Amino acid sequence: MGIFHKGSKAYSIFMLKCPKCHESDMFYTPTFSFKRSFDMKDRCDHCGLNYHPEPGFYYGAMFISYIFTGWFSIGFVAILHWVLDWSIAASFGLLIAVMVFFFVYTFRLARAIWININVKYDASKRIT
Ligand SMILES: [Zn+2]
Repeated sequence: MGIFHKGSKAYSIFMLKCPKCHESDMFYTPTFSFKRSFDMKDRCDHCGLNYHPEPGFYYGAMFISYIFTGWFSIGFVAILHWVLDWSIAASFGLLIAVMVFFFVYTFRLARAIWININVKYDASKRIT
């Protein structure tokens, strides 16, 4: 079954599902459609959880995103430059391309992590 099953934090975070019921998507559009990328629903379609419990709630998600992208960037360039022997320019060039492509997913992932820190899963809210 692994860690990606309903009821696990990993499922809610990586699939961008409601942290309380794990049934409904937190965002209107799929991540890689790149349409309405930053529009988050106000409430869960299934259980009604308020995704914006207070003004500035996702301020903390900014720090998660910052820490993740910082460490990812260091590791990414270090591996390309020191392990695979790429030039610094090529390593940073690929890093920028990867970061631009995954920008929306990183944004959404940070918000999903933040709301999962603050909201607990409730199995009684599931469909089955
Ligand atoms: Zn829900």
